Amino acid sequence: MTTYLIKRARILGGEPTDLVLRDGVIAEIGLSTAPATDDTGEVVDAEGLIALPGLVDLHTHLREPGREDAETVETGTLAAALGGFTAVHAMANTDPVADTAGVVEQVWRLGREAGHCDVFPVGAVTVGLGGERLAEIGAMADSAARVRVFSDDGRCVSDAVLMRRALEYVKAFDGVIAQHAQEPRLTEDAQMNEGELSGRLGLRGWPGVAEEAIIARDCLLAAHVHSRLHVCHVSTAGSVEIVRWAKSKGWPVTAEACPHHLLLTDELAATYDPIYKVNPPLRSQADVEALRVGLADGTIDVVATDHAPHPHEDKDCEWQAAAFGMVGLETALSIVQQTMVDAGLLDWAGVAQRMSIKPAQIGRLSGHGRPIQVGEPAHMVLYDPAATRVIDSAETASLSRNTPYAGRELPGRVVATFLGGKATVLDGKPA
Ligand SMILES: [Zn+2]
Repeated sequence: MTTYLIKRARILGGEPTDLVLRDGVIAEIGLSTAPATDDTGEVVDAEGLIALPGLVDLHTHLREPGREDAETVETGTLAAALGGFTAVHAMANTDPVADTAGVVEQVWRLGREAGHCDVFPVGAVTVGLGGERLAEIGAMADSAARVRVFSDDGRCVSDAVLMRRALEYVKAFDGVIAQHAQEPRLTEDAQMNEGELSGRLGLRGWPGVAEEAIIARDCLLAAHVHSRLHVCHVSTAGSVEIVRWAKSKGWPVTAEACPHHLLLTDELAATYDPIYKVNPPLRSQADVEALRVGLADGTIDVVATDHAPHPHEDKDCEWQAAAFGMVGLETALSIVQQTMVDAGLLDWAGVAQRMSIKPAQIGRLSGHGRPIQVGEPAHMVLYDPAATRVIDSAETASLSRNTPYAGRELPGRVVATFLGGKATVLDGKPA
């Protein structure tokens, strides 16, 4: 395995120092480190670059098996590596659904074969995401994929009895239920955030209360049965308030926000361009600001991408017919820099907490989200915060191009990503 000498990286934005990655671990840190002496050693000039622990995504749709026209484990994990990720949780809404040990092991194996980042399959909560009976949760937990996160994401576990049973079930192995909070009756045919604009555009509204009511119920259930709840893609100010209340009680609740909800608002629906159609929908500026504050003060624990690739034909159509979702792995760190770091709300240590350390803890990944210290696994990203780039939707490793940022200039650039000491990205390109 190649030894890397990384020169003058700023760990978590601190003073420049050198690092040696050898045999899969961080072998040395300090300006006096000797250059890599063996023939296979490679020097990486990291002047001006920030070193963060490899990013961990709690919410990625890799689409395989079933929708290999939208994404595969190979292409999705390469996009992840280019975005600085070393681990992703692959959501269960595939075809077949990841509701058995067989399917989660298949996804896990495909991730190992691709080798771009570690893939941790999410298991479905209910059979076929049908919301009627529990999936083989225990078998998935005991499988080679060692599933700890369970979610019907894309659908809400709306039945309170099933949700309670699922929360009780996962306690046995310290699992967590990640809920896509969407009250189904309140969001029938909903197309965008409910408000003055939805009325004007003639699109069926999606009220914040449809999210908030489920979050409130599930926080109460999690407290009642003393089991871990994780709230996916929080999108409203009211949801932030409810999570803050649950945490003030000491309840075992964590939450995520997506980059697009930290930046974009429902005003974009006025373009009728389905590139901005997403679930949960883009909300108001006041919601965006509440999410940023919640992420800064720790109410929202993590940033998760909800990377949701869709092929051209599912997005390039009328708003009402278009699929929900946006790709996000390759732009997540840039959006967090723009909305949180450049805005003075988070420092780079805070970014590492919310994009690596905390998501690894929630997913119970012992080998990821570790501090950049000697002896730790060499999962790391080198990032240039001073760079800028204009997003070109054609320049992506993902099979799908449904980025809402095409043509926008974003700050920052991932220069290198290391997975267990192996470079997956160098000079901003696949290694
Ligand atoms: Zn979802």
